[in-house]
Amino acid sequence: MDCTRSLLRWYRKNARTFPWRIEKPDPYVVLVSETMLQQTQTSRVAEALPKFLERFPTIETLAKATNGDVIRQWKGLGYNSRALRLRDAAKAVVADHGGIIPRSLPLLQSLPGVGPYTSAAFLCFAHNKKVVVLDVNVRRVYSRLMKRQRTTADTETDNTLIPFAESFIPARSAAEWHHAVMDLGATICTARSPACTSCPLAQSCPSNSILINVARAKKREPEFRGDPRRLWRGRFIDVLRRCSPRTELKLSVLFKRAAGSPLLDDEQEWYAATLEQLQTDGFIRLMPKGVRLAD
Ligand code: SF4
Repeated sequence: MDCTRSLLRWYRKNARTFPWRIEKPDPYVVLVSETMLQQTQTSRVAEALPKFLERFPTIETLAKATNGDVIRQWKGLGYNSRALRLRDAAKAVVADHGGIIPRSLPLLQSLPGVGPYTSAAFLCFAHNKKVVVLDVNVRRVYSRLMKRQRTTADTETDNTLIPFAESFIPARSAAEWHHAVMDLGATICTARSPACTSCPLAQSCPSNSILINVARAKKREPEFRGDPRRLWRGRFIDVLRRCSPRTELKLSVLFKRAAGSPLLDDEQEWYAATLEQLQTDGFIRLMPKGVRLAD
């Protein structure tokens, strides 16, 4: 049996269920869920998506959202800038495309925050188009299937993977195929300990049972009190998000709530620069006596 048939057969018995995996999904829901799924665990997205859609049921409602509205609804998802870019994309769809999300890669990629992954995922999952969707799980599965990898950290480049991937995608079931590869990567062909003995593709996989587990080198980010700035930015936004709209907090109170201890003198400069940047990015508003979430 070929890989495509084997994997689809496995998927039909083992598919994970998620709120965004439905027959003929609303393209708007696909755009929202695929934006959320970048860099956020599926379980968190499964929890946040229905609440987000309750607040913004259509692309028009999202297009009208203020920064503060959309940041509040992004609770628990992290990487808050995605929320603002998604709202900007909704605005562009309403203003320039009559409220219909475009169906071509170049037009999709002209929308704010929509890059190669989101545009391909959108066409595949909203319209079942035969395009290659590469996320971290999918990249790993194809790399191991494509050639004998030595370690769990090895992957091939996208340029090499795309033609390889194209040869597997069934013309009429591109969405189902990609869900299947994603599920295989998340549950069987995992990053650190692939369960090759349970894998439906084991017979055709050149990396079957030979991968040496190695830790991936972590990217170092500039740190403050042992944590990267990105985490601190999220903490400050979380504290403000918990306040009722337009509530202003003193800067010292915001810091103490986020850090659990007061700001020290030699930390003032870092704190001021971080808040300035959050304001520039559209998340917060610095006021004469304090700070609040952006309007
Ligand atoms: S046989 Fe092992 S390495 Fe190959 S796809 Fe399956 S789980 Fe991944």
